[in-house]
Amino acid sequence: MAMPIFWECDRCTACCRWPGQVKVTDGEIARIAAHLGIGEDEFIQRHTRLNAARNGLSLLDQADGSCAFLDGNECRINPAKPQQCRDFSNLWNFPGFEKTCRAKPVELSPDAWKQRIRDATGRDV
Ligand code: SF4
Ligand code: SF4
Repeated sequence: MAMPIFWECDRCTACCRWPGQVKVTDGEIARIAAHLGIGEDEFIQRHTRLNAARNGLSLLDQADGSCAFLDGNECRINPAKPQQCRDFSNLWNFPGFEKTCRAKPVELSPDAWKQRIRDATGRDV
């Protein structure tokens, strides 16, 4: 039986730089605002925009399309970053993502894979 592959992040930050939406839920807004030490309303006004589907909020972008919270090669909200960021590239990705993402494929036992997913994303799979 094929063993599951865990994509081990190289922290290259490519996924923080390509244009797109980083969606934030209400719970994530509360968590990030608390991390920044500001109120939720202030966070929404200063750091989010309506997403393209107009059905929720996303983080602002920098002029080059990268995420506004990317500072050099660091995420300024890393401990509180949105689930979308935590889940890439193990729980979602797209055809050919490995041409840009430098995560290393690691073959693991099913139990070890689940543990790594839990550590990386906070999710039980
Ligand atoms: S919130 Fe952090 S991890 Fe997510 S895209 Fe922005 S800089 Fe990257
Ligand atoms: S998930 Fe991939 S693209 Fe994002 S920082 Fe890690 S190695 Fe780079």
